[in-house]
Amino acid sequence: MNFKSFPSLLTLSFSSLLLSACSTQGNVQTINETQPKNIIMVVADGMGPAYPTAFRYYHDDPSTPLVERTIFDQLLVGAASTYPASESGYISTSDASAAALASGVKKNNFFVTDSAASATALAAGVKTYNGAIGIDQQKQAQLTVLEWAKSLNKRTGIAVTSQIVHATPASYIAKNEKRGNYNAIADNYFDLKVDGKFKADVMLGGGTKYFIRDDRNLKDEFVAAGYQYINELSQLTTLDPNKPVLGLFADNALPSALDSKDKFRLKTLTQTAIKQLENDKGFFLLVEASQIDWGGHSNDIAYAMGEMNDLSATMVFLNNYVKQNPDTLVVLTADHNTGGFSIGAKGVYQWQPHFIQLLKKSPNKIAKLLAKNKISDQQISELLGFSISEEEILQFNVINLEQTLAASQQKLTVKQAENALVKRYYKAIKDIIDLRTNSGWTSGGHTGIDVPVYAVGQGKEQFYGFQDNIEIAEKLFKLMGKE
Ligand SMILES: [Zn+2]
Repeated sequence: MNFKSFPSLLTLSFSSLLLSACSTQGNVQTINETQPKNIIMVVADGMGPAYPTAFRYYHDDPSTPLVERTIFDQLLVGAASTYPASESGYISTSDASAAALASGVKKNNFFVTDSAASATALAAGVKTYNGAIGIDQQKQAQLTVLEWAKSLNKRTGIAVTSQIVHATPASYIAKNEKRGNYNAIADNYFDLKVDGKFKADVMLGGGTKYFIRDDRNLKDEFVAAGYQYINELSQLTTLDPNKPVLGLFADNALPSALDSKDKFRLKTLTQTAIKQLENDKGFFLLVEASQIDWGGHSNDIAYAMGEMNDLSATMVFLNNYVKQNPDTLVVLTADHNTGGFSIGAKGVYQWQPHFIQLLKKSPNKIAKLLAKNKISDQQISELLGFSISEEEILQFNVINLEQTLAASQQKLTVKQAENALVKRYYKAIKDIIDLRTNSGWTSGGHTGIDVPVYAVGQGKEQFYGFQDNIEIAEKLFKLMGKE
């Protein structure tokens, strides 16, 4: 379209409308006067677009004719692509990608990212290979938005429901060739500094076993360096606001929302982190709803909706925080989609989330209780919140018999036999839930669909329209004055 053919006034207003409505690829708009004092980046791991849609229907009040909008609907501003780097350094994760490489495929891009490459993109604004933590394809360390914030003397923090050394938070702080090197990543949290300062003033999540080890006790080292250490969520209210904090509430990840005493533990961690971080110079906080991804990997929609419920409460809190503190920017996106979850399946035009609204325990927990003979077949219905049929109960008995036989044939230990039984019960329970709700899945891994982007507060316009995930970091750098 040739704008010159328009009258000048119309051209001006139309092009400025275009500018404000879209962000052009690879070209971050100039930031004017208003840089946010505080930035809160929220990553919803694995939250492809079907999850917030599903949450809207899960959350719906059935007594009203129309479906209520969620906090996600209110804050939606755009979308982002998530593909990882092509070519060098790429760790092929499947036989198919290895075969493609062997057959001479030059541009080795399979478009589906893992959480490490995607978090490095969101944190540092570079495309890298799957598995890379804070480094590019040439394995060079990359500056992250959290580190830049620290160099500006802002306070910095992370609040997550996984172990704090998991791929997403790690990519903002650590530098490692492989995401699974959790001990080395934990060492980085203490050893790597910005201008002689620790990178994160607040670290809340799981992962005790990576910090308290036989070869090194990082908890003691942090305490000696002036950090407060807590290991119970109940201690979150006892913190000295003027001292940095390391809070590790589980050996590895925190329990799922469905199995937690505090179903809104991400919101609780986020509230505390902000209280600890507030100061005159502002702060940068990374929040991660880590376990939507794990619900997706397990093809467990009840698990995923439990996590979405916690994230929703967290976003409601953050939206209100921005109302009180308009110099704060909150951005939420996902690193990728997980599970290929679909709302409706098998040609049937319905999805029935009310079957997962009354769950008293997670499907995995119910499977464990059943395997330990702590509940009867009939009690499955009570915990699920809906009745299961005689045939379905019979199916659990069949599984039990089959596994008892398999355990003796394969000479499994008691523990191995129990784990195998839990796995099959868990699958059977998920199948029942998928059947009742009519949920579909295409993968036990990640998929390459674009993810939604949400923003509220100062500078939110930067995130309007379509963008690539590296541009999210570029925009945050710019909003913090980096050229
Ligand atoms: Zn994942």
